[in-house]
Amino acid sequence: MPGQSERINPAEMLMEAAHEAMAGFFDSQSLIDNLPISVFVFEVTKDERYRLALVNRVFERLFTVRREELIGNYLSEIKIVSTADYLRPQLDLAYRSKKEVAFEWQFSTPPNERHLTCQVIPVLNGSSDVRHMLGIITDRSAEKRAERHVLYNALHDSLTGLPNRVLFHDKIEQTTETQSFTEGQHSAVLVLNVDRFQLINESFGHVAGDEFLITLAAKLKACLRGKDTLARLNGDEFAIFLESIETIGDAVKVSDRIHQAIKKPYLLSGNEIHCSVSIGIASTISSLPHPEDLLRDADFAMHQAKTGGKARTEIYQRHTHQQARSLFQLETDLRRALTDEQLKLYYQPIINMKTGKLSGFEALARWPHPERGFVPPSEFIPLAEETGIIVPLGQWALMNACRDLQIWRRSHPEASNLSISVNVSGIQFTRSDVVKDISSVLQETGLPAGRLRIELTESTVMGNPEIAAQIQKRLKDLGVELALDDFGTGYSSLSYLQRFPLDYLKVDRAFVNHIDTNKENREIAEIIILLAKALDLKLVAEGIEEPAQRDVIKSLGCEYGQGFLFSKAVPFDEADEIVAADKDWLKI
Ligand code: C2E
Ligand code: CA
Ligand code: CA
Repeated sequence: MPGQSERINPAEMLMEAAHEAMAGFFDSQSLIDNLPISVFVFEVTKDERYRLALVNRVFERLFTVRREELIGNYLSEIKIVSTADYLRPQLDLAYRSKKEVAFEWQFSTPPNERHLTCQVIPVLNGSSDVRHMLGIITDRSAEKRAERHVLYNALHDSLTGLPNRVLFHDKIEQTTETQSFTEGQHSAVLVLNVDRFQLINESFGHVAGDEFLITLAAKLKACLRGKDTLARLNGDEFAIFLESIETIGDAVKVSDRIHQAIKKPYLLSGNEIHCSVSIGIASTISSLPHPEDLLRDADFAMHQAKTGGKARTEIYQRHTHQQARSLFQLETDLRRALTDEQLKLYYQPIINMKTGKLSGFEALARWPHPERGFVPPSEFIPLAEETGIIVPLGQWALMNACRDLQIWRRSHPEASNLSISVNVSGIQFTRSDVVKDISSVLQETGLPAGRLRIELTESTVMGNPEIAAQIQKRLKDLGVELALDDFGTGYSSLSYLQRFPLDYLKVDRAFVNHIDTNKENREIAEIIILLAKALDLKLVAEGIEEPAQRDVIKSLGCEYGQGFLFSKAVPFDEADEIVAADKDWLKI
């Protein structure tokens, strides 16, 4: 060991010992024997041949020889592990140069491989002639083995013995670096994930889960050719590198073979297991030839295979990935928009169709994206719902809408009877304590509860009508008004409509759109209006764009109207002017 040899400084010690030995102190043998490293001394004869003069006990052990068999022999006669061939050039070099020579010596005495570090030191006599060659051997085999073991463990998965992610990465890198894509040489990466592996673990325990993975690894291996690489990335995720494919079809064939092989039921702790895997394929045909790119793309495709129903293969498509990525980017931007106050509330006037006066506004969120311009609510609201951002977004809309109406109420006497309508999404309605949120907004802004109108869509309340009814009841107790939005587009069951404490129905603009031209639409609108009257609900018609539509709506007896004919949703300042103008909207 180098550390140890440094501490005892064997060279110096041995030089001394050797000198002594040469000088005839035979008991130096015992001194040398006690050294923890192998030592040998060759005498250089007059005809310049090397004759072994001394070896120590560690040397004997290292080469499994007895010194009696060796001492006195010339180098050419020593037959231990091709010593002569290996040592002679080194001894010659040290002898001629009169300088120490260090070298590595590797050989194998099965089952072990030996890694030795040697030094040969010429020992000079008084007249500077080399009479002896001293050799010191340090056995580094154990150390090397440990190093290899560490290296192996760093590159392999301990459960299955398969290459791990690091080695897999390396393998891809080595191959793709030398491939010529122009000549049609391609590679593919398959990422495989076991469907419902958690279930196996939970039902049969982790030991059985491990056993399952080992068997699976063997099954996968059997589906591959010799030069394909199978790796375990983590948990129940495996990857395969197909070094050379011509078309993506070659990779698909492998994946088909895997599905077939895995489909066969197999016994795990006496239980018959049916399992499947989802596979994603990426290749250098469509992905960049870097390990990270191939793995990421194959992983993305694998997740698509999962969401697409499992037990299947998906091939990576760049455009689907880009869509997902830009959606992810939009999500990040939306989160930032909310905290950076990029979002704005716009206000669309709601008109009393009997008096022509402004009755209030519907607050609608607007997102002027710094790079993309206005992102339509039809894009960011569903995204906000999917990601849960709708909860803080909805809370933000509530707070700002109530605060703005309070500003108008304070600055314009005619604003005291105006209402503000705020959309509350289904997610927000069920996931957060919407009653508490609303009451705290009312408290903070000082807006009377009766001035706030909450718009709920049919899908929100029909998803779980029992709970929806309870929450609505609590909202009514607060004193706020409730409107059912987009009425006619969902599947409102009449019995529930009766049980909900609603105040308004908002007729969807799909019905209003052709009310003046389409007889059927007009009849539906009439039925809705009759229904609303029967249920004692007030009606708001959405999407009035034409004077003719306005006239029909009015003649049918619908109380409120909203639409581009009157005004689109406008920013706070314009809404402020609208409040101040207090005009008759039916006279345009
Ligand atoms: P919605 O609640 O049905 O809102 C009415 C939509 O109809 C608004 O679209 C409005 O600009 C549009 N509109 C009004 N009059 C007319 C018209 O005459 N013709 C036509 N073609 N369209 C008209 P917008 O602002 O794009 O909002 C779309 C949807 O996004 C809203 O539908 C609502 O469901 C949702 N949304 C907007 N802001 C919020 C919000 O703060 N919270 C929640 N939860 N949802 C919101
Ligand atoms: Ca609405
Ligand atoms: Ca609506």
